[in-house]
Amino acid sequence: MKILLLGSGGREHAIAWKLLQSPSCEALFVGPGNAGTASIATNLATVNPNDFEGVKAAVIENHIDMVIVGPEDPLVKGIVDFFLSDSTISHIPVIGPSKKGAQLEGSKDFAKEFLQKHNIPTAAYKSFTKDTVSEGKQFLETLKAPYVLKADGLAAGKGVVILNSLEEAKLELEDMLVDAKFGDASSKVVIEEFLDGIELSCFVLTDGKSYKVLPTAKDYKRIGEGDKGLNTGGMGAISPVPFADEALMKKIEERVIIPTIEGIKKDELNFKGFVFIGLIKVGDDPFVIEYNVRLGDPETEVVLPRIKSDLVSLFKAVANETLENEELELDSRSATTVMLVSGGYPEDYEKGKVIKGIDQVEGSIVFHAGTALKDGEVVTNGGRVLAVTSYGEDFHKALNTSYQNIEKLSFDKMYFRKDIGFDL
Ligand code: ATP
Repeated sequence: MKILLLGSGGREHAIAWKLLQSPSCEALFVGPGNAGTASIATNLATVNPNDFEGVKAAVIENHIDMVIVGPEDPLVKGIVDFFLSDSTISHIPVIGPSKKGAQLEGSKDFAKEFLQKHNIPTAAYKSFTKDTVSEGKQFLETLKAPYVLKADGLAAGKGVVILNSLEEAKLELEDMLVDAKFGDASSKVVIEEFLDGIELSCFVLTDGKSYKVLPTAKDYKRIGEGDKGLNTGGMGAISPVPFADEALMKKIEERVIIPTIEGIKKDELNFKGFVFIGLIKVGDDPFVIEYNVRLGDPETEVVLPRIKSDLVSLFKAVANETLENEELELDSRSATTVMLVSGGYPEDYEKGKVIKGIDQVEGSIVFHAGTALKDGEVVTNGGRVLAVTSYGEDFHKALNTSYQNIEKLSFDKMYFRKDIGFDL
């Protein structure tokens, strides 16, 4: 089978690494890819995942049998529907939800309505538009601090604002709705109750009818140690989540996963792909804070290494709606990943710094996130540069291996958090 994987981050390098372990993966193309994917697959550097005509041309030219979509943007823009509506490519499965299904991530209001409709535990909420700003302010007055405001649409992970003062929250609401702080993404705003608890992520693969629960993960979003400072795409991750014991997982499956899959069926969301469920454990109970419709980064760099089963077989079963016949075998070890980032990230940073030491790493897997090849050398090409993944009997041992290997890696102004897992 010839596969085209769309995307260019650490997530895509990890997906590529896993796909290539399958005997049925005859050829793997990554569009556009990075230096890591170039070392194991064929990069199609000119492919832009959001340019569907360009993707189609690459699919035809390279005789692709299956497309796997890494990032959310093409899914929210409807790449699955684009393929289905074009008879020259409609037979080629695209792993990911339809445009309607992708609304679970593309619109927070849609996701909240879905959660409420299917009785899935989530924070109480109301949505507002430009015409209902004053109602929004009144609603804020009925809530207790902190106040959670969410731009409805995709805002590159920046659309959620949590504020302690009521006055600031009212001003923020105005900024979002009236002054279009996040452009079109904040033409609608969800205001919701603050949930006080510890976060974890749960991943599910579905063919739209049945599902497999993949390993749990916990990521570390802030740039600074102790989870302080600005939000990033993610500075590290751990799988499994130690506090996600059998009792919690049972509640998550019964109260969240099963009703989510049932809801997808009932609402005809045509969903064949990954559901990433962001949860907060409040007391002993799980609440959904968000859905994503693809794998997360850097969670993928710890979730996929813990799947022993053949990923291509799982994807084929997703496409053929035969997932219930598949066995999912997991690695019982822990996996951790630590992200090496460019100095200055998530604000301004420089690119093009030569990365040294990758060939000296032993016992860890180095997934490339923001890298490129320049004059035969691997150089930095983004804020998040490398994800160093390791296995261990427990997450402490896995982290030790990652941190030991990081000592061998270097590039100018390299930064990483030394406290991944500090709260566990
Ligand atoms: P991501 O970057 O994870 O995709 P996002 O922009 O889609 O995030 P959410 O995941 O909904 O937005 O929220 C971002 C963060 O805000 C969460 O990880 C969580 O820490 C916090 N958060 C969101 N909703 C709540 C809530 N109701 N109570 C407390 N914290 C919340």
